[in-house]
Amino acid sequence: MKTVFVVGAGPAGMFAAQKIAQAGFQVVIFNRDIKPGGLAEYGIYPEKDKMKIGLRKQFAKVLSLPNVHYFGGIAVGAQQKITIDDLRVYKPAAIVFANGAQGYKKLGLPGEDAKGVYSAKDFVYFYNQLPPYSTQDFSCGKKVAIVGMGNVMVDIARWVLQDDPNRVTEELTIVARRGPFEAKFDEKEIKHIDMHMDAKDLLAEMERVKDKVAAVGQDVAHAADIFPLLKHDYVPAKTPRLKFRFLCGPKAIVKGPDGRMSKLVVTENLLVKKGEGTAAKGTDQTAELDIDTLIFAIGDSHDPNFGLPMGPEGYSTKPVDGDERTKYQVVDPQTGVEMSGSFVVGWSRRASDGLVGIARHDAEVGATYVIDYANKANDEFKSTADDIETNLRVKGLRIVNKPQIEKLSKVEEVEAKVRGVAYFKFPDNEAMLRAIENEIPEAVGATSGRD
Ligand SMILES: Cc1cc2nc3c(=O)[nH]c(=O)nc-3n(C[C@H](O)[C@H](O)[C@H](O)COP(=O)(O)OP(=O)(O)OC[C@H]3O[C@@H](n4cnc5c(N)ncnc54)[C@H](O)[C@@H]3O)c2cc1C
Repeated sequence: MKTVFVVGAGPAGMFAAQKIAQAGFQVVIFNRDIKPGGLAEYGIYPEKDKMKIGLRKQFAKVLSLPNVHYFGGIAVGAQQKITIDDLRVYKPAAIVFANGAQGYKKLGLPGEDAKGVYSAKDFVYFYNQLPPYSTQDFSCGKKVAIVGMGNVMVDIARWVLQDDPNRVTEELTIVARRGPFEAKFDEKEIKHIDMHMDAKDLLAEMERVKDKVAAVGQDVAHAADIFPLLKHDYVPAKTPRLKFRFLCGPKAIVKGPDGRMSKLVVTENLLVKKGEGTAAKGTDQTAELDIDTLIFAIGDSHDPNFGLPMGPEGYSTKPVDGDERTKYQVVDPQTGVEMSGSFVVGWSRRASDGLVGIARHDAEVGATYVIDYANKANDEFKSTADDIETNLRVKGLRIVNKPQIEKLSKVEEVEAKVRGVAYFKFPDNEAMLRAIENEIPEAVGATSGRD
């Protein structure tokens, strides 16, 4: 049977797999995490239970297709036990790369390695209980800052201000390179946290940047369009306090004697026109903020150690106007020649690009080109999914297959019911594997969601 491999089981991988399987191909999915779902499971905010549960059901439906096989706990990559070339040895008709954006946008700041400096991705993996992040130290101190002004910032702020069970935070500062009108969060999202903002503080900050934003034709009198709390009567802010500091960019991180960061040095920025939009322009002026925890929420990039060739904007493609297929086709960046049968979809095609619906649409469009390609390819796949599983196990990998994922879901469901919570997750891979291998689920150290 003609077979297509899919690497990654986030929304993009799962919806691509569904479409390809429905077109009559056998699909084999390889996923780094034991469980499918990617950021839908381990990124979306824990309180968004309904959305998460709905997506879990859709992913279970994909896995229930008889011609879909699943191997969880398998990280593919140039530095992993399974490389992309290892997969190519099986001669699948095509490989769809849906491994998301697992690289980091490092700013290269002095002191970036201090304790208390985190990337948003690792931080959301932590509070969403993805091993191994779930058991690592992502503690927040009294003075926290988040760099970035999108919905991911809002999620993290929500955790820091409201849901962190070990909270000691007194103040959270949002550090924004540009001004209030460049905020990227949705009104619905900011309402989750705006009760922590003091309107007087916010208006004082608007006053501070008023002239700088006026230079590009913006008027802080319209700030209520971005911050709905300014439309209402004054209500004192809840603690911990949430503040915004606009028009400044991180320049250096100062470490305290314990190795944890103690200050953030920022460069004061101007706002200038850039094409249709705006850009931040650094000045010679700097300021020091008392900050002990810093989280970068500035988007992610593709992992350069994965093994796919990198172009200027991530995994290498060469989109040609009017030929949508070329957006999904991996090319050699040196020669521009297509790497036959290699496609990228979802965040693996465009890092940090939009919501689940966008990743799904992207994957389904990409899948149509994969199907076209695979229909024309010779059928050289001579193995079975069982052969692949055996070969992976021989390499010492603890694979989790489809029946085991079903079992894990059932154990988690039972445990959630017993605890009267919306969902239950094991805190580490060992506990998941023990549950799969028939031992009694351990309550100690396990975590549960709110309902
Ligand atoms: C903090 C945060 C909050 C979000 N909240 C929302 C929200 O509320 N609503 C919404 O609609 N969208 C939300 N999104 C966006 C949504 O999560 C993404 O659109 C979507 O998950 C992208 O899907 P993907 O499959 O391309 O990538 P991912 O979801 O990242 O999936 C990648 C998959 O690849 C696997 N993988 C990674 N590396 C390897 C490897 N080397 N080998 C094998 N497998 C690998 C991973 O295990 C994972 O399963 C949020 C995103 C973030 C970061």
